[in-house]
Amino acid sequence: MPATPFTEPAKKHLGQHFLHDRSYVDRIVQAVGPVLDPQSGERLVEIGPGQGAITFPLLDRHGALTVIEFDRDLIAPLTEAARAHGELTVIHRDVLKVDFTELADGVKNRIRLVGNLPYNLSSPILFHVLDHAPVVRDMVFMLQKEVVDRMAAPPGSKVYGRLSVMLQAYCRVEALFIVPPGAFRPPPKVDSAVVRLVPRDASEVGIDDPALFARVVRDAFGQRRKTLRNALSQVCDAAAITAAGIRPELRAEQLPVADFVRLANALTTDAA
Ligand code: SAM
Repeated sequence: MPATPFTEPAKKHLGQHFLHDRSYVDRIVQAVGPVLDPQSGERLVEIGPGQGAITFPLLDRHGALTVIEFDRDLIAPLTEAARAHGELTVIHRDVLKVDFTELADGVKNRIRLVGNLPYNLSSPILFHVLDHAPVVRDMVFMLQKEVVDRMAAPPGSKVYGRLSVMLQAYCRVEALFIVPPGAFRPPPKVDSAVVRLVPRDASEVGIDDPALFARVVRDAFGQRRKTLRNALSQVCDAAAITAAGIRPELRAEQLPVADFVRLANALTTDAA
């Protein structure tokens, strides 16, 4: 084994499962894509670099990389090991407290995100990133396969829900490949999967009031078995749903993303 500056064992409470299968590392690096154009001002940012499994190959390829890591024990070894690979900027912080808009220097530059995410935090991280979607060009994330299935699910599928609608409304979602537990140390209990998310332009998203849209989606899926008429009773009545061109006796899991947008926008107009 080559000497390594990483001496700490994996920490369960930080969701640490370190990728050690090189073939999957290569596929993630490939998924991130070609070398950044230095003129573009884009910044490549990795969430949760851990012991650098993806970090160092990314640095070798791109020359510069910013990483956000919460575990203080990993900061010095990462910085030391990175010297042989390229220019690493380490942000020692909880990713949920990172302002990506600031990191992108306002909207002047855009960020490309990559990460084998801590699974206990994957939904909060996704929603946090969505809050900064205008400055994010794309994301390549590894998550629990079950979460990726929900993110990419079409209407009518058993796993189509709030996460599917919220993600698909704001991003193009492309499930890329599955990674088995044996590719990690220690192995997680479940399969993982890599997904690419590309935020849509505001004009393509077309949501007038994001807070109202989020509320409609949350309430609609609050009780999956209820009809829209009942599930949305706190937000609107059946007449308003009908006026948006949607049958109030449908259930949320049957409604395409575009219909959620149309309904929320119709309610925004009503309220105006
Ligand atoms: N990228 C490494 C790999 O693939 O081997 C490590 C992935 S491990 C699943 C998740 C990483 O996220 C760990 O390094 C963990 O310390 C870090 N992490 C956990 N919670 C975090 C948080 N709130 N903010 C930033 N990093 C976090």
